[in-house]
Amino acid sequence: MKRKVAILGATGSVGKSTLDLILRSPEQFEVCALTAAVNVEALAEAARLTNARLAVVSDPDRLSELEVRLAGSEIRAAAGSEALAEAAAGEADWVMAAIVGCAGLEPVMAAVEAGRTIALANKEALVTAGALMIDAAKRTGATILPVDSEHNAIFQCLGANRLDHVSRLVLTASGGPFREFSLDQMRGVTPEQAVAHPNWSMGAKISIDSATMMNKGLELIEAHHLFGLPSDRIDILVHAQSVIHSMVEFIDGSVLAQLGSADMRIPIAHTLAYPERMATTAIKLDLAKLGTLSFEVADAVRFPALALARQALEQGGAAAIVLNAANEIGVAAFLDRRIGFNDITRLVADVLERDATAAPRCIADVIAIDGSTRRIAGDLVARVAA
Ligand code: NAD
Ligand code: MG
Repeated sequence: MKRKVAILGATGSVGKSTLDLILRSPEQFEVCALTAAVNVEALAEAARLTNARLAVVSDPDRLSELEVRLAGSEIRAAAGSEALAEAAAGEADWVMAAIVGCAGLEPVMAAVEAGRTIALANKEALVTAGALMIDAAKRTGATILPVDSEHNAIFQCLGANRLDHVSRLVLTASGGPFREFSLDQMRGVTPEQAVAHPNWSMGAKISIDSATMMNKGLELIEAHHLFGLPSDRIDILVHAQSVIHSMVEFIDGSVLAQLGSADMRIPIAHTLAYPERMATTAIKLDLAKLGTLSFEVADAVRFPALALARQALEQGGAAAIVLNAANEIGVAAFLDRRIGFNDITRLVADVLERDATAAPRCIADVIAIDGSTRRIAGDLVARVAA
């Protein structure tokens, strides 16, 4: 039987890699729904190629253009947040969550509430909703499979091992394009330099997060929620080659690692075929050619995002929502050339200091805290940019 799939964020980097895998194995998959924020041209093309049943554009103003592009096909066009929730919780039993940012939270939760299998790339949704999402998944029977390469690696290494046999998780980090830059050098970098990741080809937002290392900070929080270990049992290790995608250390001293080329199709394929395996065209590792693997300690002074994220995780309450919202605003402002690179984490630190909101009790609380933090961070950006 074909697996029925939906891709939220089908026009992005992870979305396109997912489509690539699906299009190479058409006998295995049936595409129920694809979504995009604004790019109706790419959305319509992907919907036609996969013969999807539903194509959703978030922006209602683009619905008529989507309809024109899908004219003559049997693909239904829809727009807006309700249609997005329908794509997430409709007929598909496997849902790729690849929208970027907290904007992906509501559709992810729709899939969780419907008890689907969710391939989770959208780390910001888990960072902000945290325990609410994990608890909802337990209640509805939804399965969350990690797509983020580090978490997918840990998930594979854990296998059938018991969590009480794990002593710590080690998240590996490439260190990004500025791994060897001084703070002074980082001050003057441009968005073009910052999005040019040395190993991975990704969307703009996560590329900037990799450059500040906030990506690893968000991943620390993500790992805590996915695997249920406290902050002091999750370490970060810089491994510039991005060959080892993360590791699990057990109480007896054994360490299991997952290795592979830096190609998101590998972790995506793992979740797409799970619990089976499927072939991919990703380049196989040649360790003899590589020769050595290198590791170093992450520099807390040059990459303050790491400590900020750990602080937010340990603080609990709404701190992770605040951290994430301030970071999203900071990254967008940097990409718009309104603030400098080092201002991103400065903004996050400033906002995190002001806010002491209580823990969210429901997803509506998360969205409200996200919204109010965005306004505070937006005002601070306006002041810095003035
Ligand atoms: P991207 O910017 O390339 O694509 C984002 C997708 O989400 C696009 O399809 C876009 O249309 C859609 N989108 C954006 N804003 C939206 C909104 N407000 N409402 C609805 N849809 C919206 O991003 P990406 O690099 O593919 O990353 C997607 C997610 O996966 C992020 O959370 C990222 O952290 C995570 N992730 C990405 C990679 C990677 O290699 N790119 C690796 C690990 C994790
Ligand atoms: Mg990652």
